[in-house]
Amino acid sequence: MTSKPGNAAYDPTNIFARILRGELPCKKVYEDDHVLAFEDIRPLLPVHVLVIPKGAYVGMNDFTATASGDEIAALYRAVGEVARLKGVADSGYRIIVNNGVDGHQEVPHLHVHVLGGRKVGRMVGVQPAAD
Ligand code: 5GP
Repeated sequence: MTSKPGNAAYDPTNIFARILRGELPCKKVYEDDHVLAFEDIRPLLPVHVLVIPKGAYVGMNDFTATASGDEIAALYRAVGEVARLKGVADSGYRIIVNNGVDGHQEVPHLHVHVLGGRKVGRMVGVQPAAD
């Protein structure tokens, strides 16, 4: 099955689906009924955790359209919990959700990056529009 991040049918073979099924390992940071959070395999900052819903959501489009209120609340609560667990709640951190093709989403299962551990600068990866 093929999948275009952001608006296509969910691909159950994606890497995060395989982590959720226990087929691939991860360094777990937090888990509850709706959410799993684990260390990014290629951290960009001293703290780099991915927070994902356990439900099969490609990205923000289907998550915001079809997830339950409990699932949506759980994802945001988990982000806060991860920040506390990783010790950046007071120092500060950035959350990023890359979504779809223009958003440079690589893994087609919704994930929130939690980034911190040092100052992250004003913005990341955004070039001024040419037109
Ligand atoms: P995206 O570009 O889709 O927003 O981010 C995907 C993230 O997933 C990247 O930061 C990448 O390092 C991370 N990633 C890709 N494959 C794996 C994996 O197998 N395990 C873990 N823990 N992270 C992964």
